[in-house]
Amino acid sequence: MKRILITGGAGFLGSHLCDYFIKKNYHVIGMDNLITGKLENIEHLFPLENFEFYNHDVSKFVHVAGKLDYILHFASPASPIDYLKIPIQTLKVSSLGIHNLLGLAKNKKARILIASTSEVYGDPLVHPQTEEYWGNVNPIGPRGVYDEAKRFQEAITMAYHTYHNIETRIVRIFNTYGPRMRLNDGRVLPAFIGQALRGEDLTVFGDGKQTRSFCFVDDLVDGIYKLLHSDYPLPVNIGNPDEITIGEFAEEIIKLTRTSQKVIYKELPKDDPLQRQPQISKAQEILHWEPKIAREEGLKITYDYFRSLSDEELYRKDHNNFEKYIVK
Ligand code: UDP
Repeated sequence: MKRILITGGAGFLGSHLCDYFIKKNYHVIGMDNLITGKLENIEHLFPLENFEFYNHDVSKFVHVAGKLDYILHFASPASPIDYLKIPIQTLKVSSLGIHNLLGLAKNKKARILIASTSEVYGDPLVHPQTEEYWGNVNPIGPRGVYDEAKRFQEAITMAYHTYHNIETRIVRIFNTYGPRMRLNDGRVLPAFIGQALRGEDLTVFGDGKQTRSFCFVDDLVDGIYKLLHSDYPLPVNIGNPDEITIGEFAEEIIKLTRTSQKVIYKELPKDDPLQRQPQISKAQEILHWEPKIAREEGLKITYDYFRSLSDEELYRKDHNNFEKYIVK
């Protein structure tokens, strides 16, 4: 049985990856410090013999007993609100954290795939974004702690690849959505659906003309699996090129939830990218991958998930464990 370590295993993407690799009959070791991850996301896996969970912060030395074939590094806060609240941890997990994991990969002769992001392109001047584009990032802006850490993460991963000859893969993930996103993590989809369910107006930032391209989580996970098993060490965009303005997206959510609330406009956060759309021809050619789930279908599944949450969950202000972690 192949053994895989998934960091951020209790998070939105990490927990879906744990499910996927369990289904593929891997021995899965989930690791998470539970700052933004939630045990509820993986509690159904605890009874399984081929699942283990370590409550650990990967910025500290990482020890895993036994052999390891693969490592997926998915630990990181991933929403602008999160990294404004925990900027130092955001920087550490994609610098100190990846350094530890690359060392582990080298020791265990494991192949490692890292979660990078469309944020490496910043507020892109090239549209759609190709893997060759170097980006337009403000290193000292509010998103800098995430963007630059992820860029460093790519650099150190390539360095281990060329210098230590370890097997590395880099996925650049574009906006992804689906069940288990955290309500109130500030991302647009849980924000809008949460607002609709609570009977509040939907808050569109700026004039709503900025664009994003949303990929359903099952498509993303499938692409990651294919990339892991490819022999391609350079970054690959995985995302759904179906681009939409945030204003139109709000209208879609209003229709889906049948809310009678309206859209209200709020100030656009600093350095909020104006446009974002993945160019996915590399994934198509190299991985024979493309997204299959249209937004209409994916949004229905996601809405059903949010509807199934308790009122207590829906009205809770904070959906994280930041306080206990922040060392003053
Ligand atoms: N956004 C919005 N209303 C909200 C939350 C977000 O209009 O309540 C906008 C945000 O300004 C951005 C887009 O939706 O332009 C996507 O935001 P998100 O935080 O989900 O991800 P990003 O792609 O910016 O990292």
